[in-house]
Amino acid sequence: MSENKQKLIELAERLAIPLPEEMGSFDGYSLHCNFSGGKDSIALVLLLLYGYKVPKEKIQLIHMRVDSSEERNPNPLFDWPQTDEYLRYCAKKLDLPLVIISSPKSLEERIRDRGLWPAPSQQFCTSYQKRDVYAKWVRSLGPGRYLCLSGERAEESSRRAQNLAKSTFRVYKSANAPTKNRFVDWYRPIHHLLTDEVWELMRLADIEPHPCYQNVSRCSCRFCIFLSPKEMKKVAELYPEEFQKLVEMEKQMGHTMKYEKGNSISLEEFINKANTNDDQLELDLFKPCATWA
Ligand code: SF4
Repeated sequence: MSENKQKLIELAERLAIPLPEEMGSFDGYSLHCNFSGGKDSIALVLLLLYGYKVPKEKIQLIHMRVDSSEERNPNPLFDWPQTDEYLRYCAKKLDLPLVIISSPKSLEERIRDRGLWPAPSQQFCTSYQKRDVYAKWVRSLGPGRYLCLSGERAEESSRRAQNLAKSTFRVYKSANAPTKNRFVDWYRPIHHLLTDEVWELMRLADIEPHPCYQNVSRCSCRFCIFLSPKEMKKVAELYPEEFQKLVEMEKQMGHTMKYEKGNSISLEEFINKANTNDDQLELDLFKPCATWA
């Protein structure tokens, strides 16, 4: 065994804290790891494999593609163009099956249909393109005992820490159906991990980070509604055509993605704030795409 592999096992074993009493153990569950390709989703899988010694046969990596399927929409707008290939790289490295699921409608189509952008209070990007897609897929599996695992961490924000302090385990209500012998729960196993520990697990496992980390702090959608001006500007510079498409959508719909103190602000104005005191990069933004079912 290589030195790094030994260190990986030692670190993962140290981080594998007791599971919630109401959950008991991983035995009896088929595990669905919510796998964005971000560092936390990878750390989650490494903790299962090396910390809790979950057999590989029990684990699947589940990715929700927001731009509908790769076949239908090979040129993503919100998904990073590198993600499909990166997911396959991770699945090979981890030697685990990868399942990519998606809504028939892309996020762009969903936004155009509504004539509105998703907002923190109306996060339909997450609910339609991710949560509902997962719930529908699990329902299609039939009877069984399934555990959805996601990689939220308390260190990410005070809001998240408060939520995690209340509970890390619960029933996944929108997919759970005891009368049909389908039991679905949700657990967040890396709630206690620190960012350095997450990166260290990945380094020891010899897994390269998603290329998006060269430009943004989180592996969320490429044009996530929660991006700060600085990050949105960087992404706009990297993908000017796609950014221009969003600018045009704002004009066509008469609705902006961003608001400032209750007033709409166009994406072009928003990225101009990148070098001002208004930039939000240092603020305690809550992480996208994490809400209990
Ligand atoms: S990453 Fe951002 S834009 Fe994408 S689904 Fe989540 S909240 Fe919405």
